[in-house]
Amino acid sequence: MLRGVQGIFGGTFDPPHFGHLEVARTAYHQLGLDSVRLMPAGDPWQKDDIDVSSAADRWAMTELLAAHEPWLVADATEITRDGPSYTIDTVGAVGGRSTLILGADAAMGIKSWHRSGDLLDIVDIAVVPRDGISRGDIEAALNREIIWLEMEPIRTSSTGIRAAVRSGQDLDGAVPDTVEDYISERGLYMSPTSRHGKSLSSPSMEKISTGATEDAINAARVAAAAISAKSGENIMLLDLAELLVVTDIFLLATGSSRRNVLSLVDEAIAALRELDREPIRKEGTDHGKWVLLDYGDVIIHVFDKATRDYYDLEHLWADAPRIEFVPSPSITDS
Ligand code: ATP
Repeated sequence: MLRGVQGIFGGTFDPPHFGHLEVARTAYHQLGLDSVRLMPAGDPWQKDDIDVSSAADRWAMTELLAAHEPWLVADATEITRDGPSYTIDTVGAVGGRSTLILGADAAMGIKSWHRSGDLLDIVDIAVVPRDGISRGDIEAALNREIIWLEMEPIRTSSTGIRAAVRSGQDLDGAVPDTVEDYISERGLYMSPTSRHGKSLSSPSMEKISTGATEDAINAARVAAAAISAKSGENIMLLDLAELLVVTDIFLLATGSSRRNVLSLVDEAIAALRELDREPIRKEGTDHGKWVLLDYGDVIIHVFDKATRDYYDLEHLWADAPRIEFVPSPSITDS
């Protein structure tokens, strides 16, 4: 038992979800902690290539999740501090004895954190399973023992929730109703196009027969050809203009590995840059399981095989007309 010890559970919490709640519960009960502090990062320095929701929104949703348990506290230490959110500073600011609670994916990265050596000297590290990463993997990466918590792996992720909102899918109980209401009232995770009409689409808004604009179709075909040239598999262009307000076209593709997913994404970005298009939002480039590139009228989803099968977006959008494209001859990854 760790009486007198508080758990610190940090994250971007964009949005907080039931996976986070289960992690906190597991740590609280298995370690006998006094409390668990949910600590949303004010400036998540590791996600600076990604468009993160405002601190105010993430804080509000974290408070809604914390309301689920009396021992769970939303802590504003990082949100209210200027500059990057370094955990070593947070532990000092909170004071007392702390155990850091992390998912296995996050624990694997601790060595890259600011003053990680000092941090590892002053806190215990408690880790829950995630993404098939074992206790041994983490102890080898950190070169020290950790506390391994027993928890049935949960597949929920904030990335998946944001993508589900974007693509109009049901959140399926992944977040509390209060958080789901907050997301929809604030219009979070929808592209700016959905909130303000298709204002970000190119000036050429003429519809051609399928419903999507000619400009969107051209861009989607260019990206599809670039992805096929890098051996992207199972590439599909779905015309969603009549079915969704958020976008015209989904491009779906599969990479043979997470590395390949990231290289397909780079190819698509480079090809669309030639058309003077830049993504409004990027998701998932930190893990490469499901990367989403939002161009307003075209949304590109590149998955690894398991994630593509699991979410099965083409089944969800089976009614959407397909758009043909001409594949490019394949050039293998160097
Ligand atoms: P994203 O998908 O945007 O990366 P996330 O769902 O991983 O978000 P974060 O706020 O980045 O959520 O994560 C905070 C912490 O919660 C990290 O330590 C992460 O490993 C852990 N975590 C999040 N979801 C789970 C889960 N389903 N199982 C175990 N740990 C999780």
